[in-house]
Amino acid sequence: MVSQRMLGLGTARSVIRELFEYGKQRAAVVGPENVFDFSLGNPSVPAPAAVNENAIRILKEDPEAIHCYTSAQGDAAARRRFADSLNRRYGTAYTENDFYITVGAAAALCCVFGALTCPGDEFVAFAPYFPEYKVFVEGAGAALKVVPPEIERFQIDFDAFEALVNEHTKGVIVNSPNNPSGVVYSRATLEKLASVLTAKSAQYGHPIYLISDEPYREIVYPGFEVPWVPDLYRDTIVCYSFSKSLSLPGERLGYVLVPPRAADAGDVYAAVAGAGRSLGYVNAPSLFQQVTSLCCDMTSDLSVYQRNSKLLVNALREMGYHVAEPGGAFYLFPRSLEPDDLAFSERAKQFDLLLVPGSGFGAPGHVRIAYCVQTDMIERALPKFKALADSYR
Ligand code: PLP
Repeated sequence: MVSQRMLGLGTARSVIRELFEYGKQRAAVVGPENVFDFSLGNPSVPAPAAVNENAIRILKEDPEAIHCYTSAQGDAAARRRFADSLNRRYGTAYTENDFYITVGAAAALCCVFGALTCPGDEFVAFAPYFPEYKVFVEGAGAALKVVPPEIERFQIDFDAFEALVNEHTKGVIVNSPNNPSGVVYSRATLEKLASVLTAKSAQYGHPIYLISDEPYREIVYPGFEVPWVPDLYRDTIVCYSFSKSLSLPGERLGYVLVPPRAADAGDVYAAVAGAGRSLGYVNAPSLFQQVTSLCCDMTSDLSVYQRNSKLLVNALREMGYHVAEPGGAFYLFPRSLEPDDLAFSERAKQFDLLLVPGSGFGAPGHVRIAYCVQTDMIERALPKFKALADSYR
Protein backbone atom coordinates (compact mmCIF):
# COMPACT_ATOMS: atom_id res chain seq x y z
CA MET A 1 0.00 0.00 0.00
CA VAL A 2 1.37 3.43 -0.90
CA SER A 3 0.09 6.91 -0.16
CA GLN A 4 -3.09 7.29 -2.18
CA ARG A 5 -2.58 11.04 -2.37
CA MET A 6 0.93 10.68 -3.79
CA LEU A 7 -0.18 7.85 -6.09
CA GLY A 8 -2.91 10.14 -7.38
CA LEU A 9 -0.47 13.02 -7.93
CA GLY A 10 2.10 10.78 -9.58
CA THR A 11 -0.33 9.18 -11.99
CA ALA A 12 -2.77 12.04 -12.69
CA ARG A 13 -2.82 12.99 -16.34
CA SER A 14 -1.27 16.35 -17.09
CA VAL A 15 -3.04 17.98 -19.99
CA ILE A 16 0.00 20.14 -20.71
CA ARG A 17 2.40 17.17 -20.74
CA GLU A 18 0.01 15.13 -22.87
CA LEU A 19 -0.20 17.95 -25.41
CA PHE A 20 3.57 18.24 -25.43
CA GLU A 21 3.97 14.48 -25.98
CA TYR A 22 1.28 14.53 -28.68
CA GLY A 23 3.23 17.34 -30.37
CA LYS A 24 6.38 15.21 -30.47
CA GLN A 25 4.52 12.26 -31.96
CA ARG A 26 2.80 14.48 -34.50
CA ALA A 27 6.12 16.11 -35.44
CA ALA A 28 7.50 12.68 -36.33
CA VAL A 29 4.62 12.32 -38.82
CA VAL A 30 4.23 15.79 -40.36
CA GLY A 31 7.63 17.34 -39.54
CA PRO A 32 8.46 19.56 -36.56
CA GLU A 33 8.05 22.73 -38.65
CA ASN A 34 4.35 21.88 -39.12
CA VAL A 35 3.45 21.51 -35.45
CA PHE A 36 2.66 24.70 -33.53
CA ASP A 37 3.27 23.83 -29.93
CA PHE A 38 2.14 26.59 -27.56
CA SER A 39 1.82 24.27 -24.57
CA LEU A 40 4.87 24.83 -22.38
CA GLY A 41 6.15 27.86 -20.44
CA ASN A 42 9.82 27.18 -21.13
CA PRO A 43 11.68 30.46 -21.86
CA SER A 44 12.72 30.63 -25.52
CA VAL A 45 15.51 33.19 -25.14
CA PRO A 46 18.91 32.23 -23.79
CA ALA A 47 20.22 33.35 -20.41
CA PRO A 48 22.46 36.43 -20.54
CA ALA A 49 26.07 35.61 -21.44
CA ALA A 50 27.14 36.71 -17.95
CA VAL A 51 25.33 33.69 -16.47
CA ASN A 52 27.58 31.16 -18.18
CA GLU A 53 30.65 33.37 -17.79
CA ASN A 54 30.13 33.61 -14.04
CA ALA A 55 29.39 29.89 -13.72
CA ILE A 56 32.57 28.97 -15.60
CA ARG A 57 34.69 31.48 -13.68
CA ILE A 58 33.41 30.23 -10.31
CA LEU A 59 33.96 26.61 -11.28
CA LYS A 60 37.52 27.35 -12.35
CA GLU A 61 38.38 29.59 -9.42
CA ASP A 62 36.99 27.64 -6.52
CA PRO A 63 35.71 24.23 -7.61
CA GLU A 64 35.83 22.63 -4.18
CA ALA A 65 34.09 25.35 -2.20
CA ILE A 66 31.28 25.76 -4.71
CA HIS A 67 30.27 22.11 -4.47
CA CYS A 68 29.85 22.29 -0.68
CA TYR A 69 26.64 22.59 1.31
CA THR A 70 25.70 26.19 2.02
CA SER A 71 23.77 27.51 5.01
CA ALA A 72 20.21 26.17 4.83
CA GLN A 73 18.87 29.67 4.16
CA GLY A 74 21.47 30.19 1.44
CA ASP A 75 24.90 31.77 1.25
CA ALA A 76 24.97 35.09 3.11
CA ALA A 77 26.78 36.96 0.33
CA ALA A 78 24.22 35.78 -2.21
CA ARG A 79 21.35 36.83 0.04
CA ARG A 80 22.99 40.22 0.54
CA ARG A 81 23.18 40.72 -3.25
CA PHE A 82 19.48 39.88 -3.59
CA ALA A 83 18.68 42.40 -0.84
CA ASP A 84 20.88 45.10 -2.37
CA SER A 85 19.29 44.63 -5.77
CA LEU A 86 15.74 45.06 -4.45
CA ASN A 87 16.81 47.98 -2.25
CA ARG A 88 18.23 49.78 -5.29
CA ARG A 89 15.10 49.16 -7.35
CA TYR A 90 12.37 49.70 -4.80
CA GLY A 91 13.97 52.00 -2.21
CA THR A 92 13.60 49.34 0.49
CA ALA A 93 16.01 48.43 3.30
CA TYR A 94 16.06 44.64 3.27
CA THR A 95 19.01 42.68 4.61
CA GLU A 96 20.27 39.16 3.99
CA ASN A 97 18.32 38.05 7.05
CA ASP A 98 15.03 38.58 5.21
CA PHE A 99 15.83 36.12 2.39
CA TYR A 100 15.56 32.35 2.31
CA ILE A 101 16.98 30.96 -0.94
CA THR A 102 14.94 28.14 -2.47
CA VAL A 103 14.80 25.56 -5.22
CA GLY A 104 12.78 27.86 -7.50
CA ALA A 105 9.44 29.54 -6.87
CA ALA A 106 7.76 26.15 -6.53
CA ALA A 107 9.82 25.37 -3.41
CA ALA A 108 9.42 28.95 -2.18
CA LEU A 109 5.63 28.53 -2.31
CA CYS A 110 5.76 25.12 -0.62
CA CYS A 111 7.94 26.55 2.16
CA VAL A 112 5.54 29.47 2.70
CA PHE A 113 2.41 27.30 2.75
CA GLY A 114 4.19 24.86 5.05
CA ALA A 115 5.32 27.69 7.30
CA LEU A 116 1.91 29.33 7.65
CA THR A 117 -0.50 26.40 7.81
CA CYS A 118 -2.23 25.50 11.06
CA PRO A 119 -5.03 22.88 11.19
CA GLY A 120 -8.15 24.09 9.38
CA ASP A 121 -6.41 26.91 7.46
CA GLU A 122 -7.38 27.99 3.97
CA PHE A 123 -5.61 29.88 1.19
CA VAL A 124 -7.36 31.80 -1.56
CA ALA A 125 -6.28 32.03 -5.21
CA PHE A 126 -7.83 34.01 -8.05
CA ALA A 127 -8.75 32.17 -11.24
CA PRO A 128 -7.18 31.82 -13.65
CA TYR A 129 -4.37 30.44 -11.51
CA PHE A 130 -1.25 28.26 -11.69
CA PRO A 131 -2.68 24.74 -11.08
CA GLU A 132 0.22 23.66 -8.85
CA TYR A 133 -1.08 25.99 -6.12
CA LYS A 134 -3.65 23.36 -5.25
CA VAL A 135 -1.00 20.65 -4.99
CA PHE A 136 1.30 22.82 -2.87
CA VAL A 137 -1.44 24.13 -0.55
CA GLU A 138 -2.96 20.70 -0.01
CA GLY A 139 0.52 19.25 0.50
CA ALA A 140 0.90 21.66 3.41
CA GLY A 141 -2.38 20.38 4.88
CA ALA A 142 -4.47 23.44 4.04
CA ALA A 143 -7.38 23.90 1.61
CA LEU A 144 -7.33 26.04 -1.54
CA LYS A 145 -10.40 28.19 -2.25
CA VAL A 146 -10.64 29.69 -5.73
CA VAL A 147 -12.28 32.99 -6.62
CA PRO A 148 -13.98 32.67 -10.03
CA PRO A 149 -12.43 34.70 -12.84
CA GLU A 150 -13.46 38.20 -13.86
CA ILE A 151 -13.38 37.34 -17.54
CA GLU A 152 -13.44 40.80 -19.16
CA ARG A 153 -10.02 41.95 -17.94
CA PHE A 154 -8.90 39.18 -15.55
CA GLN A 155 -8.53 41.60 -12.66
CA ILE A 156 -10.31 40.62 -9.40
CA ASP A 157 -14.02 40.05 -8.74
CA PHE A 158 -14.03 41.58 -5.27
CA ASP A 159 -17.61 40.59 -4.40
CA ALA A 160 -16.76 36.95 -5.06
CA PHE A 161 -13.49 37.35 -3.15
CA GLU A 162 -15.10 38.86 -0.06
CA ALA A 163 -17.66 36.08 -0.04
CA LEU A 164 -14.86 33.49 0.16
CA VAL A 165 -12.72 35.05 2.87
CA ASN A 166 -13.52 33.85 6.39
CA GLU A 167 -11.87 33.33 9.76
CA HIS A 168 -9.96 30.30 8.40
CA THR A 169 -8.27 32.30 5.64
CA LYS A 170 -4.53 32.31 6.38
CA GLY A 171 -3.32 33.71 3.10
CA VAL A 172 -4.20 34.95 -0.37
CA ILE A 173 -2.06 34.23 -3.43
CA VAL A 174 -1.50 36.77 -6.20
CA ASN A 175 0.49 36.19 -9.36
CA SER A 176 1.03 39.24 -11.54
CA PRO A 177 2.09 39.26 -14.37
CA ASN A 178 -0.10 36.22 -14.49
CA ASN A 179 0.23 32.68 -15.70
CA PRO A 180 -1.98 31.86 -17.64
CA SER A 181 -3.67 35.18 -18.58
CA GLY A 182 -0.61 37.38 -19.15
CA VAL A 183 -2.56 40.11 -17.37
CA VAL A 184 -0.90 42.51 -14.93
CA TYR A 185 -2.94 43.55 -11.89
CA SER A 186 -3.31 47.32 -11.87
CA ARG A 187 -2.13 49.36 -8.90
CA ALA A 188 -5.83 50.11 -8.20
CA THR A 189 -6.63 46.39 -8.05
CA LEU A 190 -3.76 45.71 -5.66
CA GLU A 191 -4.64 48.71 -3.48
CA LYS A 192 -8.22 47.55 -3.23
CA LEU A 193 -7.04 44.04 -2.39
CA ALA A 194 -4.79 45.47 0.33
CA SER A 195 -7.63 47.46 1.86
CA VAL A 196 -9.97 44.44 1.87
CA LEU A 197 -7.25 42.30 3.47
CA THR A 198 -6.52 44.94 6.10
CA ALA A 199 -10.21 45.12 7.01
CA LYS A 200 -10.64 41.34 7.03
CA SER A 201 -7.50 40.84 9.16
CA ALA A 202 -8.91 43.29 11.69
CA GLN A 203 -12.34 41.64 11.57
CA TYR A 204 -10.95 38.14 12.22
CA GLY A 205 -8.23 39.25 14.64
CA HIS A 206 -5.29 37.67 12.81
CA PRO A 207 -3.12 38.64 9.85
CA ILE A 208 -4.14 37.39 6.44
CA TYR A 209 -0.89 37.12 4.50
CA LEU A 210 -0.61 38.09 0.86
CA ILE A 211 1.67 35.65 -0.92
CA SER A 212 3.00 37.37 -4.01
CA ASP A 213 4.21 34.76 -6.49
CA GLU A 214 6.43 36.77 -8.84
CA PRO A 215 8.35 34.64 -11.34
CA TYR A 216 7.29 37.01 -14.14
CA ARG A 217 7.99 40.27 -12.26
CA GLU A 218 10.46 41.54 -14.87
CA ILE A 219 8.53 40.42 -17.94
CA VAL A 220 6.31 43.47 -18.26
CA TYR A 221 5.52 45.54 -21.34
CA PRO A 222 5.69 49.33 -21.81
CA GLY A 223 2.62 51.07 -20.42
CA PHE A 224 2.19 48.53 -17.61
CA GLU A 225 3.39 48.83 -14.06
CA VAL A 226 4.17 46.01 -11.66
CA PRO A 227 4.03 47.74 -8.26
CA TRP A 228 6.21 46.45 -5.42
CA VAL A 229 3.52 44.54 -3.55
CA PRO A 230 5.02 44.78 0.00
CA ASP A 231 4.74 48.58 -0.35
CA LEU A 232 0.99 48.23 -0.75
CA TYR A 233 0.24 45.63 1.92
CA ARG A 234 2.27 45.16 5.08
CA ASP A 235 1.77 41.43 5.52
CA THR A 236 3.13 40.41 2.11
CA ILE A 237 5.52 37.50 1.59
CA VAL A 238 7.30 37.41 -1.77
CA CYS A 239 8.10 34.21 -3.67
CA TYR A 240 10.51 34.79 -6.53
CA SER A 241 12.27 32.75 -9.19
CA PHE A 242 15.02 33.23 -11.76
CA SER A 243 13.42 30.59 -14.00
CA LYS A 244 11.84 33.13 -16.33
CA SER A 245 13.71 36.44 -15.90
CA LEU A 246 17.12 34.81 -16.46
CA SER A 247 15.78 31.82 -18.48
CA LEU A 248 17.09 29.31 -15.93
CA PRO A 249 14.14 27.01 -15.12
CA GLY A 250 16.30 23.91 -14.92
CA GLU A 251 18.76 25.41 -12.45
CA ARG A 252 16.06 25.70 -9.77
CA LEU A 253 16.81 28.97 -8.03
CA GLY A 254 14.46 31.38 -6.27
CA TYR A 255 13.82 32.85 -2.86
CA VAL A 256 11.30 33.69 -0.18
CA LEU A 257 11.44 37.27 1.06
CA VAL A 258 9.81 37.87 4.45
CA PRO A 259 9.83 41.66 4.86
CA PRO A 260 10.65 42.52 8.48
CA ARG A 261 7.56 44.67 8.91
CA ALA A 262 5.21 41.76 8.10
CA ALA A 263 3.28 40.45 11.09
CA ASP A 264 5.36 37.98 13.14
CA ALA A 265 8.12 38.22 10.53
CA GLY A 266 10.70 36.50 12.74
CA ASP A 267 8.50 33.49 13.34
CA VAL A 268 7.38 33.35 9.71
CA TYR A 269 11.01 33.34 8.53
CA ALA A 270 11.98 30.64 11.03
CA ALA A 271 8.95 28.55 10.02
CA VAL A 272 9.88 28.94 6.32
CA ALA A 273 13.30 27.51 7.25
CA GLY A 274 11.56 24.74 9.16
CA ALA A 275 9.34 23.93 6.19
CA GLY A 276 12.40 23.82 3.89
CA ARG A 277 14.04 21.45 6.35
CA SER A 278 11.01 19.18 6.63
CA LEU A 279 10.68 19.04 2.84
CA GLY A 280 14.31 17.91 2.63
CA TYR A 281 15.59 20.75 0.46
CA VAL A 282 18.75 21.18 2.64
CA ASN A 283 19.88 24.16 0.55
CA ALA A 284 19.29 25.51 -2.95
CA PRO A 285 21.93 24.70 -5.62
CA SER A 286 25.16 26.30 -4.46
CA LEU A 287 26.63 27.26 -7.84
CA PHE A 288 23.46 28.99 -8.95
CA GLN A 289 23.01 30.83 -5.66
CA GLN A 290 26.23 32.60 -6.65
CA VAL A 291 25.47 32.94 -10.36
CA THR A 292 21.94 34.31 -9.96
CA SER A 293 22.96 36.71 -7.22
CA LEU A 294 25.77 38.06 -9.40
CA CYS A 295 23.32 38.45 -12.29
CA CYS A 296 20.19 39.50 -10.42
CA ASP A 297 20.15 43.00 -11.92
CA MET A 298 20.05 41.53 -15.44
CA THR A 299 17.42 39.77 -17.51
CA SER A 300 17.49 37.72 -20.66
CA ASP A 301 16.54 39.66 -23.80
CA LEU A 302 12.84 39.88 -23.06
CA SER A 303 11.99 41.97 -26.15
CA VAL A 304 11.07 38.88 -28.14
CA TYR A 305 8.16 38.18 -25.78
CA GLN A 306 6.77 41.65 -26.34
CA ARG A 307 7.15 41.26 -30.11
CA ASN A 308 5.40 37.88 -30.01
CA SER A 309 2.63 39.22 -27.83
CA LYS A 310 1.86 42.14 -30.12
CA LEU A 311 1.93 39.99 -33.23
CA LEU A 312 -0.46 37.43 -31.77
CA VAL A 313 -2.87 39.79 -30.03
CA ASN A 314 -3.33 41.98 -33.11
CA ALA A 315 -3.74 39.04 -35.47
CA LEU A 316 -6.04 37.04 -33.20
CA ARG A 317 -8.31 40.03 -32.55
CA GLU A 318 -8.54 40.70 -36.27
CA MET A 319 -9.64 37.09 -36.75
CA GLY A 320 -12.40 37.60 -34.16
CA TYR A 321 -10.84 36.03 -31.08
CA HIS A 322 -11.51 37.76 -27.74
CA VAL A 323 -8.21 38.34 -25.94
CA ALA A 324 -7.82 40.22 -22.64
CA GLU A 325 -5.02 42.78 -22.83
CA PRO A 326 -1.75 41.13 -21.78
CA GLY A 327 0.74 43.27 -19.87
CA GLY A 328 3.53 40.75 -19.41
CA ALA A 329 4.66 37.19 -18.73
CA PHE A 330 4.56 35.19 -21.97
CA TYR A 331 1.02 33.87 -22.09
CA LEU A 332 -2.24 34.81 -23.80
CA PHE A 333 -5.58 33.50 -22.64
CA PRO A 334 -8.15 33.97 -25.43
CA ARG A 335 -11.73 32.75 -25.20
CA SER A 336 -12.31 29.42 -26.85
CA LEU A 337 -14.63 29.67 -29.84
CA GLU A 338 -17.03 27.23 -28.23
CA PRO A 339 -17.91 27.07 -24.54
CA ASP A 340 -16.16 23.73 -24.06
CA ASP A 341 -12.45 24.61 -23.99
CA LEU A 342 -11.43 20.93 -24.04
CA ALA A 343 -13.38 20.37 -27.25
CA PHE A 344 -11.88 23.58 -28.67
CA SER A 345 -8.36 22.44 -27.81
CA GLU A 346 -9.11 19.10 -29.52
CA ARG A 347 -10.39 20.92 -32.61
CA ALA A 348 -7.24 23.09 -32.63
CA LYS A 349 -5.17 19.90 -32.84
CA GLN A 350 -6.70 19.24 -36.25
CA PHE A 351 -4.82 22.37 -37.36
CA ASP A 352 -1.68 21.26 -35.50
CA LEU A 353 -2.16 24.06 -32.97
CA LEU A 354 -1.43 22.89 -29.41
CA LEU A 355 -3.38 25.10 -26.99
CA VAL A 356 -3.91 24.28 -23.31
CA PRO A 357 -7.57 24.18 -22.14
CA GLY A 358 -8.36 26.86 -19.54
CA SER A 359 -10.36 24.52 -17.27
CA GLY A 360 -7.18 23.36 -15.56
CA PHE A 361 -6.47 26.98 -14.62
CA GLY A 362 -9.95 27.46 -13.15
CA ALA A 363 -11.23 29.41 -16.15
CA PRO A 364 -13.24 27.22 -18.54
CA GLY A 365 -14.07 28.74 -21.91
CA HIS A 366 -10.48 29.87 -22.53
CA VAL A 367 -7.22 28.41 -23.78
CA ARG A 368 -3.66 29.27 -22.85
CA ILE A 369 -1.14 30.14 -25.54
CA ALA A 370 2.46 30.08 -24.26
CA TYR A 371 4.18 32.34 -26.81
CA CYS A 372 7.71 31.83 -25.47
CA VAL A 373 8.56 30.43 -28.91
CA GLN A 374 10.40 31.65 -32.00
CA THR A 375 8.61 34.55 -33.69
CA ASP A 376 8.69 32.83 -37.06
CA MET A 377 6.70 29.93 -35.61
CA ILE A 378 4.00 32.41 -34.62
CA GLU A 379 4.03 33.91 -38.11
CA ARG A 380 3.62 30.47 -39.63
CA ALA A 381 0.89 29.59 -37.11
CA LEU A 382 -1.35 32.58 -37.90
CA PRO A 383 -3.02 30.98 -40.96
CA LYS A 384 -3.80 27.98 -38.73
CA PHE A 385 -5.49 30.19 -36.14
CA LYS A 386 -7.45 31.75 -39.01
CA ALA A 387 -8.48 28.35 -40.35
CA LEU A 388 -9.52 27.31 -36.84
CA ALA A 389 -11.69 30.42 -36.50
CA ASP A 390 -13.15 29.89 -39.99
CA SER A 391 -14.08 26.33 -39.04
CA TYR A 392 -16.61 27.81 -36.59
CA ARG A 393 -18.26 30.11 -39.13
N1 PLP B 1 4.43 30.22 -10.16
C1 PLP B 1 4.02 30.41 -11.42
C2 PLP B 1 2.88 31.33 -11.66
C3 PLP B 1 4.64 29.76 -12.48
O1 PLP B 1 4.20 29.97 -13.74
C4 PLP B 1 5.71 28.88 -12.22
C5 PLP B 1 6.37 28.14 -13.30
O2 PLP B 1 5.99 28.14 -14.44
C6 PLP B 1 6.11 28.71 -10.88
C7 PLP B 1 5.46 29.40 -9.88
C8 PLP B 1 7.24 27.80 -10.52
O3 PLP B 1 8.45 28.34 -10.96
P1 PLP B 1 9.85 27.67 -10.66
O4 PLP B 1 10.36 27.13 -11.96
O5 PLP B 1 10.72 28.78 -10.19
O6 PLP B 1 9.68 26.64 -9.62
